[in-house]
Amino acid sequence: MIHINKDFSKIPASLTSETTNERRREIIKLKKFQTQGIYSSRYKKEDVKTALSNLYRNKCAFCEQKIERFDVEHFRPKSIYYWLAYSWDNLLVACPVCNGNKTNHFKLIKKRVEFDDADYKNIHHLAEKYNQLEENLFFHPEIENPEDDLDFKEDGTISSDNQKLCYTIETCKLNRPYLIERRKRIIDNFLQQQNEIYLQYLSTKEEALLYEIKALRKLFKKEALDKENEFLAFRRKMVKNFSL
Ligand SMILES: [Zn+2]
Repeated sequence: MIHINKDFSKIPASLTSETTNERRREIIKLKKFQTQGIYSSRYKKEDVKTALSNLYRNKCAFCEQKIERFDVEHFRPKSIYYWLAYSWDNLLVACPVCNGNKTNHFKLIKKRVEFDDADYKNIHHLAEKYNQLEENLFFHPEIENPEDDLDFKEDGTISSDNQKLCYTIETCKLNRPYLIERRKRIIDNFLQQQNEIYLQYLSTKEEALLYEIKALRKLFKKEALDKENEFLAFRRKMVKNFSL
């Protein structure tokens, strides 16, 4: 999980169109999200998906793996927070596995907010306010930065002392074997390459090999900053752990 900066000056047109506004008003009147296509298609329009996929670089907001076809994820479940079904700050990218694990899990410390007419004018900007009111335990990567509080081990496991991150890790099952293995492989490959060059250096004492190690370490660091790459939080933690 990494922090994502969403651009609120460019809310996808489909979310602010008259048709969407009409659907939103109907849902609010019925006090329940409607599952028929005319309602569920509104948050999946091409411009919404394109904006989200560009912002998240086709990576899941929670596990950070690249996904060919992603689900538009409602941070606050639309089945509970029906009025947020088309809210730009409530839409994220999730892989089918994280999305399936999260489903409607949304634990709160404080009382759940209810729809309030006064909030309608800020319908795309309610996440921060609601987070403060509800003290939800699910982590919103666009509002807070998780990186300093995330801990990764070389074996690919993820953990945190932060209550919200812990809940998110557990709910999305971010320690599932597939993800552990993929994260572990990144650092294993790097350490193996570094080790091979170092052993070569020990037997040959060729100075150039030391520069090769330096370049390899530099490359790992560079890759940890490349937004296109998967598992950036893990890579960045490894950069720190190995003082790269
Ligand atoms: Zn995921």
